[in-house]
Amino acid sequence: MEQRKGRRLVLFPMPLQGHINPMLQLAQILHSKGFSITVIHTNFNSPNASNYPHFTFHPIPDRLDQSDPAMPSNIGSLLSHLTTMCEGPFEDCLRKLMLDETDEPIGCLVSDALFHFTQGVSERLRIPRIVLRTGGACSFHVFAAFPFLKEKGYLPVQDSKLEDPIMELAPLKVKDLPVINTSDPEKLYQLATSMVNSAKNCAGLIFNTFEDLEQSSLDKLRYEFLIPIFPIGPFHKFCPPSLSSLIAHDETCISWLDRQEPGSVIYVSFGSIAAIEQPEYEEIAWGLRNSGRPFLWVIRPSSVDGVDGLNPGLEERGCIVKWAPQVEVLSHPSVGAFWTHCGWNSTLESISEGVPMICMPCFADQKVNSRFVCDVWQVGVELERSNGLERGKIQRAIRRLFDEKEGEEIRDRMLHLKEKASLCLKQGGSTFQSIGGLADHILSLESLTFSARESTV
Ligand code: UDP
Repeated sequence: MEQRKGRRLVLFPMPLQGHINPMLQLAQILHSKGFSITVIHTNFNSPNASNYPHFTFHPIPDRLDQSDPAMPSNIGSLLSHLTTMCEGPFEDCLRKLMLDETDEPIGCLVSDALFHFTQGVSERLRIPRIVLRTGGACSFHVFAAFPFLKEKGYLPVQDSKLEDPIMELAPLKVKDLPVINTSDPEKLYQLATSMVNSAKNCAGLIFNTFEDLEQSSLDKLRYEFLIPIFPIGPFHKFCPPSLSSLIAHDETCISWLDRQEPGSVIYVSFGSIAAIEQPEYEEIAWGLRNSGRPFLWVIRPSSVDGVDGLNPGLEERGCIVKWAPQVEVLSHPSVGAFWTHCGWNSTLESISEGVPMICMPCFADQKVNSRFVCDVWQVGVELERSNGLERGKIQRAIRRLFDEKEGEEIRDRMLHLKEKASLCLKQGGSTFQSIGGLADHILSLESLTFSARESTV
């Protein structure tokens, strides 16, 4: 590990699994470049500090109590709540850290892009701010186009136009736009545009992606954003997400996978937020059973509305767990396909481990990711949920991947992408170089902070 003294960074993750994992993985990457790491985090979904004895953690209040009936019940209102409630406590905490003469000065703040208010805080405290966007460059480019999409009438999304192509953002269709079903679409529109505008005004933008995968989206962003952009993924190759998991991984599924034929298992997981309805659960259960293939299905507690017990006979062919060690699962030789909601971490983990996908996006950026997986990289098949999930459609998607020529071609393309994901990490590879560029960039920002320390606090 490179050792450089006086390089303290403050990281501020959004407290959701798909955001905490990449932020703490980024922390490990930066630590390996000689930076010391301080994490400011909410009490809600707080990371397990004991897994990171080499980092310092500071909790801030967020006025979220999971037992409180007034707890935001959906992802849209949770995001709004967090972006409203965290600003004051975050600023107080950061100010105190900056005042602490016993610790080394802070070189830079690294904030989740969704915490757009950190722009104002960093300006007031005169500390440089870099942003981590935990989603892909492909969907971020679409968020950046929101004002244009609104002007052209694509947003807000109208049911009668769902199948319309968006020529300016081909191959996307209106139904792929990264929105969340909510009673207040304007609020989410504002959140997305604030995220993009505050990212445009930061000192650098980090993506958990790699150049060869998203070059075209990255190029478009580089053209529109006048700040340095660092694609330094796939992050999970630097450290396991198990350290930052909010739920304990059930490792028993690995010994179950050991007993299956190579490439035979369908791994099914819809991430940490997406939920399914009871009739969908029944169709998935029957679709998997009827496919005749072994499956490993992650059913998070409370992720299926209205289901108490498992569908009878389900465990004869499958293994069911509440939370899986996903990266270990995807890299297991028995796994032949990943039926996923296309969260960005899952998408990138699948690509890096070379596992073809059955894409069933649920909301937000997942829909853009799915379109790129199926139509741009062509390493997965689409399974539409919106017109009703039905066992015949599920069996058909599974057959396409496992039994048809199309599946073979998908597998070949996926192996090619996996190879690229591995090459970018090697010396001279794009991620390897970009990490070096990021470390140098952060160091070049420092002079500003050192001179600002006295004047700020
Ligand atoms: N994950 C896991 N075990 C599971 C399912 C998911 O460890 O059973 C991890 C997965 O590896 C990924 C993260 O949780 O890093 C989910 O992030 P993603 O962006 O895919 O989806 P989200 O949960 O944000 O919808």
